[in-house]
Amino acid sequence: MPGLIPENILEDILNRIDIVEVISGCLPLKRAGRNFKACCPFHHEKTPSFMVSPERQIYHCFGCGESGNAFRFLMRHERMEFPEAVEALARKAGVVLPQIKAQDHKGENLITQFYKINELAASFYAANLNSAAAVNAKNYLLKRGIKEESVKLFRLGLAAHGWDTLMAHLRAKNVPLSLIEKAGLVLSKQGGGFYDRFRNRIIFPVVDIKSRVVGFGARVLDETQPKYINSPETPIYTKGRNLYGLNFSKESIRENDFAVIVEGYLDFIVPYQEGLKNIVASLGTALTPEQARILKRYTRNVVMVYDADNAGQLAMLRSLDIFIEEEMEVKIVSLSLGFDPDSFVRKYGIGPFREKIAKAQGLFDYKLAIMKSRHNPKEAQGKARISQEMLGTINKFKDAVLRSEYIRQLAQELDIREDALLEEAKKVRKFPGYAGANLRPNAKKELNINPAEKLLIALMLRESELIHYIRERLDPADFMDEKISKIVSLCFNFAEEGKDLSTKSLLNYFGDEGLSQIVCESVFLPDELSQQNKEKLIEDCLCRIQEEKIKLTRQRLHEEIKRAQDSKDEQRLERLTEEFNSLLKKR
Ligand SMILES: [Zn+2]
Repeated sequence: MPGLIPENILEDILNRIDIVEVISGCLPLKRAGRNFKACCPFHHEKTPSFMVSPERQIYHCFGCGESGNAFRFLMRHERMEFPEAVEALARKAGVVLPQIKAQDHKGENLITQFYKINELAASFYAANLNSAAAVNAKNYLLKRGIKEESVKLFRLGLAAHGWDTLMAHLRAKNVPLSLIEKAGLVLSKQGGGFYDRFRNRIIFPVVDIKSRVVGFGARVLDETQPKYINSPETPIYTKGRNLYGLNFSKESIRENDFAVIVEGYLDFIVPYQEGLKNIVASLGTALTPEQARILKRYTRNVVMVYDADNAGQLAMLRSLDIFIEEEMEVKIVSLSLGFDPDSFVRKYGIGPFREKIAKAQGLFDYKLAIMKSRHNPKEAQGKARISQEMLGTINKFKDAVLRSEYIRQLAQELDIREDALLEEAKKVRKFPGYAGANLRPNAKKELNINPAEKLLIALMLRESELIHYIRERLDPADFMDEKISKIVSLCFNFAEEGKDLSTKSLLNYFGDEGLSQIVCESVFLPDELSQQNKEKLIEDCLCRIQEEKIKLTRQRLHEEIKRAQDSKDEQRLERLTEEFNSLLKKR
């Protein structure tokens, strides 16, 4: 993973920054003894199992196993690549990076290439929109109320009529066809060959928080169906992971301490250009947990604006429960039939739109009103259906006081006994079809390792002086677990070269093979470890590891002896028996 940037520079950076500061810039950390904890940003959970050690400058999640140093955190959380994470932290630390030679095309990371291809495509589409041939498209945008400055800011573009204009453009820049296809910009023809995915459409580049183009949305200029087509998922574009416009609106969202969420590109652009800057578009009817978590970095308050004739109304409403689970406050504005934010603002102006937002209704009240309009709250069946659906939402509140308060309100509204509702509340888990139900935490990669081996690693990492002692007694190969053996040999090498063995720097040497999980987990082993009689602890570990080794050797010899007996290989049998006996004596 490192390679290009010298080790000592990486170490220098890690020594100057504080991982607690880096992580708390992204999520709220709470002190827990000598460590900090939080709900893990990498898997969904309700009780915190994500730990940060200021002492060791690493983090580890006991729920999903994700762990590492500050570089790794930025890579995972901000979706940076290693060199980017190094650059970001170097800037923070005031460390000057040596000039790194420009990489050749082949050596370049595939991900970087995707960004480049998208960038080329976005520029190409934007230039198309500026050409003389694009009068129709320009007029169309003007008619839709899109200002020239917005066209520039959001880099709107035009995919021309032809079947291969983009493809020809990218090919002329030596972009391999296979990559253009993987980036989702062309489709394969039945009889062989490719054609442009987007033709005769207005192009909306989808840009991530760092203003890199990750994909495209494309809208027809007339009434052709489908109205919108989008990039397929690629290594840099996953639907529901982005919030359109957040790169422009994040500061305003932080300042205003709330975010307005709309659905589509134009629903975002039109209010934004009229001055409503704390807005993002979900680019999908239902909100995803990722999107909620991204927003949570900037605010805990969201107002969802959507059109009331939305077919997926209930699905959308259910998806909002995710905000409750994330302990965010969610309110809803529904526009009158036939209006979306885009058309509403064009017709009535931004003022009335802001008024609607100011008067947004809380999720509980809003959802209850919807449910009452769908089911008769005077009939038993209706009451049951309404309370089922409402309890699904109420159960998501972490705060027991809030839960009981909403149950009290619901009982009153439906004119039913509160204890009946309380009883139902216990039964209601997550119904099938619930957005929340699909939120299984990332399966933790279970590590089946001899505890003695793990303990030794923990001890070595706590006190590097111990490494020399252990090195005299054991060989890396004595550790049965391949991963532990790798870590041990790395530790031994460090010690031999007289290098400082700090956990945070050690992690720079690991890729994705699960080594950092072992190392980081050991850092958070209970503190009693350091109080115990260390010599005895080490002796016990060494003994157990050696015993394990002898046991395995015995098993192996036993099988080999059997085989030698079967094949009547007397010479071999004699040698093996001798070996077996001497092993028994050793014990
Ligand atoms: Zn986790």
